[in-house]
Amino acid sequence: METLEHTVKVLSVEKLTHDVLQIVMEKPDDYTFIPGQATELSINSQYWREEKRAFTFTGLPEEPYLEMIIKTYPALKGVTNELLKLQPGNELIIREPWGAISYNGHGVFIAGGAGITPFISIFRHLASINRINGNRLIFANKTKSDIILENKLKDLLGNNCINILSHEKVAGYHYGFITKPFLKDQIEAFDQKYYVCGPPPMMTAVTQSLSDLGVANDSVILEL
Ligand SMILES: Cc1cc2nc3c(=O)[nH]c(=O)nc-3n(C[C@H](O)[C@H](O)[C@H](O)COP(=O)(O)OP(=O)(O)OC[C@H]3O[C@@H](n4cnc5c(N)ncnc54)[C@H](O)[C@@H]3O)c2cc1C
Repeated sequence: METLEHTVKVLSVEKLTHDVLQIVMEKPDDYTFIPGQATELSINSQYWREEKRAFTFTGLPEEPYLEMIIKTYPALKGVTNELLKLQPGNELIIREPWGAISYNGHGVFIAGGAGITPFISIFRHLASINRINGNRLIFANKTKSDIILENKLKDLLGNNCINILSHEKVAGYHYGFITKPFLKDQIEAFDQKYYVCGPPPMMTAVTQSLSDLGVANDSVILEL
């Protein structure tokens, strides 16, 4: 079956960190998504239009525009490097929304780097319906300067926003990787949902630790 494509204009591009962009674009009529979902995006130019990459919607479905938060890899000379040159008025192509992560009850959200993106939309949605209490975020990054939307996440989650840095010791932040002892310290009750999204090595380590701590496989929701 032919995939439905929508050409949308870029409305704004902003740098959120040294290597992360926030891109706001037009929303096609009747386009909608479930918080946590992604789509295949490409740049509407002759060379790049078939170079499709997956990115997650970070706004709310009811907003009149679409938003994405994108970590760029200039060294790869791929799509995200090209997105660094994007200007308002340029065109992108998006396809249908899809994705494995959606909210399925309160729990602990464990994100590494750009793996935070599905959780941003989910948290915004939960806040908009007054249901964010009881959810906790453990957010792993290399350094403080890598943390995406740090203040926004603190505003949304308060003390339930826990940052851990693997490459930098900063007062008030946890240091190291998300290990089994770390999870045991941070999590009070293990009979809840676990949402995990991040680089593959982190996903493997975290799911193994959760399993060792007695969390049932069907309580763990992963974006693979
Ligand atoms: C369902 C889904 C949703 C996603 N949502 C988002 C999102 O919302 N935001 C976001 O930023 N990303 C997201 N990603 C990841 C994103 O798709 C990739 O980062 C993107 O495809 C990279 O495209 P590229 O053309 O620049 O690099 P490509 O050439 O396609 O490179 C592919 C991958 O190589 C890896 N890589 C290779 N070399 C390096 C290096 N030196 N340093 C670091 N990594 C390296 C990266 O992990 C990169 O993902 C998502 C992925 C999936 C599967």
